[in-house]
Amino acid sequence: MIKTFKLVRRVAGLKMHVYITQVDDILIDTGPYSLHKQVRSLVEDTAFKRVILTHHHEDHTGNCAWIEDQLGIPQWIHQKGVSECKVNSTLPLYRSIFWRNRKSFQPYELRSEEMVYSNEHSLKVVHTPGHADDHIVLIDEENGFCLTGDLYLFHSPTSHFSFESVPELIRSLQITLKHSFKGIYCSHGGYFPNGRRLLERKRDYLENLQHEVMTQYKSGHSPREIRKILFPENKPFHYLSLFENSPQHTINSIIQST
Ligand SMILES: [Zn+2]
Repeated sequence: MIKTFKLVRRVAGLKMHVYITQVDDILIDTGPYSLHKQVRSLVEDTAFKRVILTHHHEDHTGNCAWIEDQLGIPQWIHQKGVSECKVNSTLPLYRSIFWRNRKSFQPYELRSEEMVYSNEHSLKVVHTPGHADDHIVLIDEENGFCLTGDLYLFHSPTSHFSFESVPELIRSLQITLKHSFKGIYCSHGGYFPNGRRLLERKRDYLENLQHEVMTQYKSGHSPREIRKILFPENKPFHYLSLFENSPQHTINSIIQST
């Protein structure tokens, strides 16, 4: 049994979707605290006995403290995310307005390559850093799907967060695509039956971008010049995030990894 729940967050004309997925008795992610009313009502109608988190970000873990305190349900996250979850989040303003800070909770450790079994599914934990150090995807090869968390999101991003790494994202896409599956469940886009193709497009796009940035860098351009050549525009979100999200991070993460 697999089921997705669509949640919507609206702030000042901006709209974001968050999807929580249930696989048999497992809930994948708990949504942001800002949507706690929607999450609590879906959780009360859902028979689940455990939670697996794709990564520690506040829009994926916002209701974990409540689930732990009120329902006593055990939760797991990749071992690199455990310590982050044991303290309250302290977000920059634009993220706390949208998602709200998350309270601390005490998850158990998941290991890379670990298998998680439920009634009808066998999920392989694949560590996929790049968006976050503790990011994982869960792959059911037998039934041909992958729960991609925030690995996909868009196939041609033109900016990244300061904590993201494009070369790591490329490696994570390559590792994920070594497995057999067709559909993906994206945390902000829902189910894509042709998800494999979308991940391939993102991998190809980022590999080309990496090549282009390195060609410019080797021909003597500075990271700032490369940004002006490839992504000259500043978008409202870059200002809103005080440049925690910017094309400059895209360029820098590529150059720094060489
Ligand atoms: Zn995230």
